[in-house]
Amino acid sequence: MSSGSSTPEATTPIPTLPETHSGIPPYLLPKATRAKEAVFSGRTKPAKPRSREVPVVPQGVSRDQFLEALEELKRELGEENVEVNDKPLKDGWYMEHPNTHDMMTILDEEEFVAGAVAYPGNTDEVVKMVKWANRWLVPIFPISMGRNLGYGGAAPRVRGSVTVDLGRRMNKILDINPQDYTCLVEPGVSFYGLYEELGRRGLREHMWVDTPDLGGGSIIGNTVDRGVGYTPYGDHWACHSGLEVVLPTGEVIRTGMGALTEGGENTWGVFPYGFGPYSDGIFSQSNFGIVTKMGMTLMPNPGGHESFMYTFPKEEDLGPLMEIIRPLRISTILENVAQLRHVTQTIAAAGLPKSHFFSGSGTIPPEIIHSAAAASPVGDHTWAYYGMSYGPPHIRSYKLAIIDAEFSKIPGCRKIDPSTLPEDEYFWSRDRIASGTPDIHELRWVNWAPNGAHIAFSPVSPIRSADATKLFQLGKRIHEKYGIDFMPAFIVGLREMHLIVEIVFDRDDREEKERALECLRDMVDEAAREGYGEYRTHLVLMDQVAGTYGWGGGALGRFNERLKDALDPNGILAPGRCGIWGERYRGRGWEMGRGSEGGSEGDGVGGRVL
Ligand code: ADP
Repeated sequence: MSSGSSTPEATTPIPTLPETHSGIPPYLLPKATRAKEAVFSGRTKPAKPRSREVPVVPQGVSRDQFLEALEELKRELGEENVEVNDKPLKDGWYMEHPNTHDMMTILDEEEFVAGAVAYPGNTDEVVKMVKWANRWLVPIFPISMGRNLGYGGAAPRVRGSVTVDLGRRMNKILDINPQDYTCLVEPGVSFYGLYEELGRRGLREHMWVDTPDLGGGSIIGNTVDRGVGYTPYGDHWACHSGLEVVLPTGEVIRTGMGALTEGGENTWGVFPYGFGPYSDGIFSQSNFGIVTKMGMTLMPNPGGHESFMYTFPKEEDLGPLMEIIRPLRISTILENVAQLRHVTQTIAAAGLPKSHFFSGSGTIPPEIIHSAAAASPVGDHTWAYYGMSYGPPHIRSYKLAIIDAEFSKIPGCRKIDPSTLPEDEYFWSRDRIASGTPDIHELRWVNWAPNGAHIAFSPVSPIRSADATKLFQLGKRIHEKYGIDFMPAFIVGLREMHLIVEIVFDRDDREEKERALECLRDMVDEAAREGYGEYRTHLVLMDQVAGTYGWGGGALGRFNERLKDALDPNGILAPGRCGIWGERYRGRGWEMGRGSEGGSEGDGVGGRVL
């Protein structure tokens, strides 16, 4: 086996902002360079020739028709803006990610793969693409940045779809309004990009971007997939205001105040609802439209901030901790979307491979994790809580005293003194993120496995002792059954929390991937039986997860299908995304579940509807 670090890909310079819309901001370049080295030093997966015929042709069109259709698309968008996907699939890494497939695939890498990629340059060209797709009955799949890692990345659900990579040419910040604390963005604006622009305009002291764990995703992609950030604004979907959407038949609508006949831009970002039904919801986690513009709110600088970290010694502390966290979080004494992390994930976040700690087979023994924790600057623990307090010192000290008194009720609780923590300690990454500075630290735990990839199990529950304990035990038991290291983190929203369990696997190891997927399928089913549903999921689990929202004999699923058929009669837009299939696909075995892991495709598609 060859070490990937010697491949040319491992040593090429990392693209930066503003030279490319998806680049790293210069302040993170040294850190990104180290991250890249670590990723490639653990890479043994060789570059492989494509194992099936290229380009992949979507079902329902012949190869000749597909190639002819792509020629027509080139005439519409420009030759250079349509690329046929007939090259080897390069996985790259976070900052140099592919837009043709899932670089962290849990199936065979030829499963969720695009036939071609197109780069529209404006809303009119998106309209042209949608009409083209309807003419040729070619499925298309929109991405903004395509870094939705852990949930499918840039990959389409249906093989051979044409990826609509919006970000490359539609990446303008159309407005930043310092009075209203709002902005209006196109799909290719990343959290990094918006942060850099605030700096360029001298507005960083004035207002903050609410940033997720990693800042390379787009604001629109993350928001429509209902991602979260870590300032008090947190819930991105709740913070957006007004959309411009290209519908699957080519009409363009604006929602909220942007829908006004004249002058909608004036109030676009300050009032999300406009008049009449609030239609935005149907464009998140769906396949009903392509978002080409979005209003987003920004947070005023609160005039001071202070990170804090507490550790708790025992697994059983989880239950009592939840009873403490819930009232503090709902009353916003705990002000931001906060994290309670298990020590296994904290140790993995050091960025070293598992083999550094343990050479045996099976899961890493708890004593090894605890001795590694004991040797770390934070010291031994089982749970670590990361939070931030906002405002001037007297406001902070009032809230911090309450938090301290409450957390200290757990025997063995320790408040970590930040001044004892070295610069590259994970704590400081949380500190930056919770105060609106995007980072690139989080992906370090992916190096736990060679050719590290990850996929998430993310059920939602109330912030209660019984629920947290039940979900924790469920995850732990099923991970043990499949011999997989368990790395849970509870992400505390306002009245709910999501348990995020990232399974890290070797994407070049078929057996390991199969085990990971079985483990996920078991967790999704068992959690659903207990009343816990996923808040978001990977392409491979979408049908299964959609099926767990089956109240009323699947009434919600049928409602979604009616919307899909009305808005997208030919079913060309992101078929199967979030478990929603148009009429032309239904009843032909496209849904994936246990036992269908061999392939992601059904048996044909129906004829034209419109
Ligand atoms: P990120 O920007 O975080 O990298 P992606 O571009 O991968 O996210 O998008 C996340 C998910 O949201 C994808 O599954 C994609 O289909 C969907 N999505 C992204 N951008 C849009 C958009 N502009 N309109 C509709 N759906 C989108």
